[in-house]
Amino acid sequence: MNKTVLITGSTSGIGLGIATQFAQKGYNVMFNGLEANGAEIATNIATKYRVKTSFSNANLLDKNQIEALVKETIQTFGSLEVLINNAGIQHVSPIEAFSSEKYENIIAINMNSAFYASKAAWKQMKAQKFGRIINIASVHGLRASEFKVAYVTAKHGVIGMTKVLALEGAPFNINANAICPGYVKTPLVEGQIKDQAIAHQMTEDEVVQKVMLKKQAVKEFVPISVIAETALLLAGEASATITGTTFALDGGWSAQ
Ligand code: NAD
Repeated sequence: MNKTVLITGSTSGIGLGIATQFAQKGYNVMFNGLEANGAEIATNIATKYRVKTSFSNANLLDKNQIEALVKETIQTFGSLEVLINNAGIQHVSPIEAFSSEKYENIIAINMNSAFYASKAAWKQMKAQKFGRIINIASVHGLRASEFKVAYVTAKHGVIGMTKVLALEGAPFNINANAICPGYVKTPLVEGQIKDQAIAHQMTEDEVVQKVMLKKQAVKEFVPISVIAETALLLAGEASATITGTTFALDGGWSAQ
């Protein structure tokens, strides 16, 4: 029987790339995201890779919708082996001007949603004696940058949460790990390039070279396929003893 993966924020960017590679490997996929073409994406992937897919536009700002998303996944596919907490947003601003609403939304989507989804999936994973929770954190869960107070706070929190889930999950063959990418060229980063250009008073090209990739030893955006390959490894049977850790896919940023 095919395994089921639920990936939050999987109708764009990194989540979509991960979903595609999981479908390629025969996983059934529950898509989630706010993109208007989410259902179409899910149908196309199902046809292309001959797996089952479904789509929910559950808004992760609402814990009831997160619980319903997990429930719907289990009802639709009959199991939930892999949960990938991927959805995330960014806002770049000096702290003095940082909007409280944006701060709270980033904490809710980038951090709290991982708690509510993991909590909702826990009973099913325990009963299956198999669960894999993969949190897409960031190098900003390991290192700070100015003007990103909410994001850096949330991502550090997610790494702490991952460690607790690993300890509590170990007796039940539930593992939990965090992937910490450096910069990946997705719509989220394209938006940031514009915001950073304003904050740093630079052109967009200067922001990419002088601000974003400055901290990576390898001056290239991290390919989405590398993140998906890492997630596939962590989702598999062989990763039982890999738990509570962080995978820095950051071009050497955190080596410094
Ligand atoms: P993206 O903007 O391309 O995709 C984000 C997804 O999250 C979208 O599908 C969006 O609809 C969904 N989403 C946002 N708010 C939501 C909400 N309230 N409810 C439901 N879904 C919601 O971004 P991305 O770059 O692919 O980022 C994915 C993850 O990777 C994020 O957690 C991000 O922090 C992390 N990350 C990204 C980079 C990067 O450079 N792009 C680097 C490190 C970590």
